[in-house]
Amino acid sequence: MSGPDQPSVVVVGAGAAGLTAALFAARAGARVTLLESGRKPGLKILASGGGRCNVLPSEAALSDFFTHGSDKAMRNVLRGWPLDAVTRFFTDDLGLPLKTEATGKVFPVSDRARDVLDVLLQACADAGVTLRTRSRVHDLRWEADAGDAEEAQAATGPAGVWHLRLDDQPALQARRVILATGGLSLPKSGSDGTGWRVVERLGHTLTPRFPALVPITVSDAGFSGLSGVSVPVTLEVTDAGKRVAVETGDLLMTHRGLSGPAVLQISRHLACPGAEQRALTLRWLDRDWRADLGDGSAGRTAGAALRSALPRRLADLLLRRADVAPEARLATLPKHQRKALLRQLERCPIPWTGTEGYKTAEVTAGGVPLSQLHLKTLESRVAPGLHLCGELLDVTGRLGGYNFLWAWVSGRRAGEGAARLAR
Ligand SMILES: Cc1cc2nc3c(=O)[nH]c(=O)nc-3n(C[C@H](O)[C@H](O)[C@H](O)COP(=O)(O)OP(=O)(O)OC[C@H]3O[C@@H](n4cnc5c(N)ncnc54)[C@H](O)[C@@H]3O)c2cc1C
Repeated sequence: MSGPDQPSVVVVGAGAAGLTAALFAARAGARVTLLESGRKPGLKILASGGGRCNVLPSEAALSDFFTHGSDKAMRNVLRGWPLDAVTRFFTDDLGLPLKTEATGKVFPVSDRARDVLDVLLQACADAGVTLRTRSRVHDLRWEADAGDAEEAQAATGPAGVWHLRLDDQPALQARRVILATGGLSLPKSGSDGTGWRVVERLGHTLTPRFPALVPITVSDAGFSGLSGVSVPVTLEVTDAGKRVAVETGDLLMTHRGLSGPAVLQISRHLACPGAEQRALTLRWLDRDWRADLGDGSAGRTAGAALRSALPRRLADLLLRRADVAPEARLATLPKHQRKALLRQLERCPIPWTGTEGYKTAEVTAGGVPLSQLHLKTLESRVAPGLHLCGELLDVTGRLGGYNFLWAWVSGRRAGEGAARLAR
């Protein structure tokens, strides 16, 4: 094969990672076709950051990322394209002005996710990438070059061609394929897990996958009655009394449970396999409640003390849970009631029942371990000629632009690697 019209590299999935992979493969000299199952590319970019796209963080450390595998491998990939260089890629190369907000999150100055997608699509078009939408790949098959019996027997190896099977379209062939089909989160954006099914059929094994950066559900109807209330908190997850994780930040009550940055950040520790027995507690506000309810406020009622610090509906819920009447004077509060009230304020047990799942999760944790790839090119060690990037891999980041950072960095590495090896 490999006629003048055939692509040398086919990228599957036009999300953040696939667009970057296609762009850098084309700039490195490959003839690139980018296949997208949806009617439009980059839907998750458009949905991101509340429609503003938190395109990058302003700072990044290895501890902002998670993997079941080796930190060293993850660092190897991340260091390949340092954050300041990625930032310059957007501002200087793609011409997208960026701004850093007080939270440390980086957004386009225009506050429009559309602009992020548009500059990527324009750069791909300028580099000669052929984008084909409504082109869903459902399987990949390797065919070794005729005459190479050993390769043919192994049904893998570099001397051959990938056949990409598409829904309702003729198969496509390419020497190099980059899979960038994403995870399972936000299925309406096109993420249906096909990529993982394909690589499993080819012999890859996957680390456990679960929704991350996801709202959690609670069984206490009192909390759901507070939908819309937002409060700064410190959350703690423990397992058999041992601390597993702590997060400080805003919590938002929803009609199904809890959301907001602090909850999303800690949710992976409740969503991962084996987390069912874990306990979630929280401290409301960053304050010393023991002192607040101490001698200085002895003349006040419990209701006045709590309502002056917390939203009234929340204060009343905590009083009910502690079995303390709002009009009870703090000075005369029995010891067991003071203790119960302090528990609700400082180590408030949250009856969590699960998460909202992939439907609302921002990312899927787990996936293809980096140990199954050549790190320099993100080429599969199991299926040579196949490169993987983005959320498909067993790397996720914290909230704050880290997941896109991983998508851009891994996409570029896979794109350049595939183009080099396709020559
Ligand atoms: C609501 C929401 C908001 C988010 N906000 C942020 C944010 O502000 N900052 C941040 O860093 N991260 C954010 N994220 C996470 C971020 O969007 C993902 O980490 C990132 O998009 C992953 O990129 P990807 O290219 O690997 O996968 P995706 O973006 O999921 O792209 C995969 C693409 O492949 C296509 N595809 C799938 N299967 C096939 C197939 N078989 N054939 C052809 N095409 C296929 C899909 O249609 C899709 O277009 C957010 C996620 C969500 C859901």
